[in-house]
Amino acid sequence: MCLFCKIINREIPSNIILENEDFLAFHDINPKAPVHILVIPKMHVESFHEVSGEVMNGITPFIQEVAKELSLDKNGYRVITNIGEDGGQEVKHLHFHVLGGAKLAWSHLSDAHPKEMI
Ligand code: AMP
Ligand code: ZN
Repeated sequence: MCLFCKIINREIPSNIILENEDFLAFHDINPKAPVHILVIPKMHVESFHEVSGEVMNGITPFIQEVAKELSLDKNGYRVITNIGEDGGQEVKHLHFHVLGGAKLAWSHLSDAHPKEMI
């Protein structure tokens, strides 16, 4: 069972913000912004690339609710999902990073050398 499925099953503790039948939002253990939440579907889906429109249809208002709950909606926030190796995905269970609480920088997205252009 993957790490986030264990969090869903309460086999690993987490700091939960919001939960319903289908989705869970909890604090990232290694925050990269003053507010850093992870939002996941309870159904195991590897990444955004495999997710159905139905799950996206449900998770969108759930993310909006999380942002409201944390008062991020007034000043704005950022939603990121990493996909696969180049995307920097470490946990292979779809998750949306919800970041806010400060004006976020938009730079140094790549700390690696660009792949050789063919
Ligand atoms: P990614 O690199 O997009 O796969 O993001 C995985 C995220 O999961 C990272 O930001 C980690 O800090 C976070 N993370 C890993 N283990 C835990 C955990 N047990 N509880 C909360 N967040 C975690
Ligand atoms: Zn999982």
